[in-house]
Amino acid sequence: MNTIEKGKSVVMNTYNRFPVVLERGEGLYVYDENGKRYLDFVAGIAVNTLGHGHPVLTKAVAEQATKMMHVSNLYWTKPQIDLAEKLVQNSCFDKAFFCNSGAEAIEGALKLARKYAEKNHPEKHEIISMESSFHGRTLGAITATGQPKYQQGLKPLLPGIVHVAFNDFEALEKAVSEKTAGILLEPIQAEGGIIPAQKEYLQKIRKLCDEKNILLMYDEVQCGMGRTGHLFAYEYYDVKPDIIALAKGIAGGVPMGALLATDKVSDGFAPGDHASTFGGNSLASSAACAVMDELVKGSIIENAKKQGLYLTEKLMELKAKHEIIKDVRGVGLLQGIELSVEAGPIITSCIEKGLLLVGAGTHVIRFVPALTVSKAEIDECMTMLGEALQEV
Ligand SMILES: *Cc1c(COP(=O)(O)O)cnc(C)c1O
Repeated sequence: MNTIEKGKSVVMNTYNRFPVVLERGEGLYVYDENGKRYLDFVAGIAVNTLGHGHPVLTKAVAEQATKMMHVSNLYWTKPQIDLAEKLVQNSCFDKAFFCNSGAEAIEGALKLARKYAEKNHPEKHEIISMESSFHGRTLGAITATGQPKYQQGLKPLLPGIVHVAFNDFEALEKAVSEKTAGILLEPIQAEGGIIPAQKEYLQKIRKLCDEKNILLMYDEVQCGMGRTGHLFAYEYYDVKPDIIALAKGIAGGVPMGALLATDKVSDGFAPGDHASTFGGNSLASSAACAVMDELVKGSIIENAKKQGLYLTEKLMELKAKHEIIKDVRGVGLLQGIELSVEAGPIITSCIEKGLLLVGAGTHVIRFVPALTVSKAEIDECMTMLGEALQEV
């Protein structure tokens, strides 16, 4: 049995995986078990913020692993406190809660919104989220996800969550009632097809939330942590939420999720209200501290902004050459091209050429490389993608 056959025999069949076994990575490149090299524009789905094998991150993880990995949240640990401090000092929030994934961060946000409402506005419990959104795979997060294909066979879902069309303020205003406790949205919808919110839309939502005592919650699991060319996507839009959910890129590849909120909103949680055994353990927190230190120095986020503009420019050039590219959109290093054909075969052809890309829905190809990507690597990506587009 080869590695893939063995995998199929022992791992649950929940993913349509590409027939590649990846073994090691360095910067923007990964290598498979046969030594073939791939340019990685997936970055573990927007996770490897600093690329593969970044010396600062690997050193932080190795040192912490030697010292102590985990003791639970029954005790205080310095790496978790340091990380919370770095996150609140560099954001508009006061407090952090740590968990292990994006879905868990969303669950935390939903629970905090309900707890806060119960204490402050007991008539409120409903959450409004957006069509074509993606918030994760736990039952709460999948209920908030506005894509029926992910919800099939799981009903009954969580009550009290309604969906409205994204970027449609009137539809949202109509759905708001006395019962609305929170509004949840991705400032840039990622999985749903790389769809940025309009700035005026977010400004209007902020005003509505303030008038009606509704909590505004941003899912920045994919668009946060420097990806937009700003540490957080809310800074790109200059419209602040009350709660933010983070995960993916926060610890550069070590599993971690986080929830940030103001003091007022954080008070919705009392001791015993929410918990996580692994959440914010020393290993994950040390990794995230290393990522934060690199990001707040500024040059990596500056690079994300600069290379994001270059990537847009290059994708527009491709669009001019290939009629099947209908649209180029995104912010910073969270970009997508919408095609008139299915993205799958083109992605497969790119893998054969040595380029890793991921779809976002059926007709969009997503570009989420490490924030350390260079101009030369973008050029290399465009060459391989251009060849693949030529073939269809
Ligand atoms: C990936 C993602 C999630 C879910 O994160 P997991 O770590 O897979 O649970 C939630 N929201 C957004 C916007 C995401 O991109």
